[in-house]
Amino acid sequence: MLTTMVDNFPGHRDGIMGPDLMAEMRAQAEKFGAEIIQGHVASVDASVRPIVVRTSEAEYLTRTLIIATGASARLLGLPAERALMGHGVSTCATCDGYFFRGHEIAVVGGGDSAMEEAVFLTRFASKVTVVHRRDTLRASKIMQDKARANPKIAWMLDSEVEDIQGTSGGEVTGMVVRHNKTGIKTEIPVTGVFVAIGHTPNTSLFKDQLELDANGYIVTHDGPKTSVPGVFACGDVQDHVYKQAITAAGSGCMAALDAEHFIEHQS
Ligand code: NAP
Repeated sequence: MLTTMVDNFPGHRDGIMGPDLMAEMRAQAEKFGAEIIQGHVASVDASVRPIVVRTSEAEYLTRTLIIATGASARLLGLPAERALMGHGVSTCATCDGYFFRGHEIAVVGGGDSAMEEAVFLTRFASKVTVVHRRDTLRASKIMQDKARANPKIAWMLDSEVEDIQGTSGGEVTGMVVRHNKTGIKTEIPVTGVFVAIGHTPNTSLFKDQLELDANGYIVTHDGPKTSVPGVFACGDVQDHVYKQAITAAGSGCMAALDAEHFIEHQS
């Protein structure tokens, strides 16, 4: 829902806007009888049978549960970042890199994701500036070496993004970067800003109920099975490697098949 053009979902040769793809999926599911209830889930109790899912309005009892709550990209918290998201600001190089052919862009972050995105983006961009808040990178040596060896990558270390500039029409025109130690502010003329400062899986509802890994992602085995029988997880909430709409959709299908199988074998 946060992205603009999706060019890498099979079957959409000319691309499709993210919200339109969601509307299509919703209508297709409803055509086959899915009932969609919107609500904010306040709590889940997966320790009882049936499982209890509570929203502020109602309580749902279910024999099986598929969790697809995703992961939220961490953001810098700048107002301009929200305003220009999908219009020059992105959290996904694989999704949006292609739109920056020949442009000067920036990647924010110093971890493996930032290095991976910076190197990937040099396929399209004329120059990629990595902006990182410390003078040492968090990324693994091998990823750092790869990025440092790339002549299209420039570095602004000990530096934080102070502002992202854009037009009223919604295009990024530049970025103000402040050096932490000197306080000196520099304007860089980028048309794209890729924020790569990590993701937070949306798993707070399941803490202490399901096995989570050290970073809070749901641990799955044999496809989408979680540590609790009858509870399945799919998409980015259990995948920090591929993180694509199509891989999430595929794992959603696996979870649906396994949930059906689980119910059949219970009765
Ligand atoms: P990460 O390792 O948590 O790194 C996040 C980076 O963003 C850090 O450099 C951090 O700075 C910076 N950062 C965080 N919050 C910030 C803020 N508010 N303002 C400015 N900078 C901020 O996240 P990740 O790079 O997404 O990696 C996540 C995990 O996936 C890691 O275990 C990583 O090894 C793995 N991964 C592996 C590969 C690969 O091997 N190919 C590729 C991608 C990811 P500090 O360093 O100062 O904290």
